[in-house]
Amino acid sequence: MCAAGPSPDDALVQPRPARTVALLLVATIFVTGAMAWPRTAASGGKTPVPPTAPPSTASPTTAAPRGLAPGLVAAFGAAVAAARQAGHNLSVTSGFRTVAEQEALLADAIAEYGPTEARRWVFPPDRSMHVRGLAVDVGDKRAAKWLDDHGARFGLCRTLSWEWWHFEWRPAWEASSSCPGPVDDPADAPD
Ligand SMILES: [Zn+2]
Repeated sequence: MCAAGPSPDDALVQPRPARTVALLLVATIFVTGAMAWPRTAASGGKTPVPPTAPPSTASPTTAAPRGLAPGLVAAFGAAVAAARQAGHNLSVTSGFRTVAEQEALLADAIAEYGPTEARRWVFPPDRSMHVRGLAVDVGDKRAAKWLDDHGARFGLCRTLSWEWWHFEWRPAWEASSSCPGPVDDPADAPD
C-alpha cells in the first residue's frame, strides 16, 4: 500500500524553480518503487510488527504528479506553507503510482513474502490510495508529526497507524477539519 523510499530521512529531493507552493509540491513529488514492509517473519501465524521506517532499497521509478488529486495538491501546498511557518520542511517521497507500479510492488512482495502476507500489507491497485491520487508519503519524521497534529484542517490525515509517513486526503475530511484516525489493520483502511 505504501511505497516509501528511499528512506525519507535520506531522501534527496531534487528542487526545481517553482512559482507557487503547489508547483513546489509538484516539483518535489516523485514516485518510488520501495514499499513499507513488516519486519517480522511471515510464518507461524504471528502478527507482523509494522515497520517503523520505510526501507531504503528501491529506486525512484517515475515522476507523475499529474496523477494526484488537485484537491490534495492544493491542501498539501497549504500544509507545506503552514509547516514552514512552524519550522518544518514537508517533503514528499512518494505520491501518485500507476496501476502497473502498484502491481509490481505487490508482485515483488508476493515473491518475497508469499501471497498471504503480501496481500495483507500491500494493497492491490484498486485499493491503493496512491493509485487513486489521494495519498502522499512525507519524508521527514518531525514534519510528519507536525502534519499528524495539524493536518486535519487541510483534510490531510495519517490513516495507517504503522506508517508515520503516509497521509491521505479526502474532501470530506477537509470540509469537516477532522480525521478518521489511523487504523491498526489494513482491512480497516478508509475508502
Ligand atoms: Zn503511502
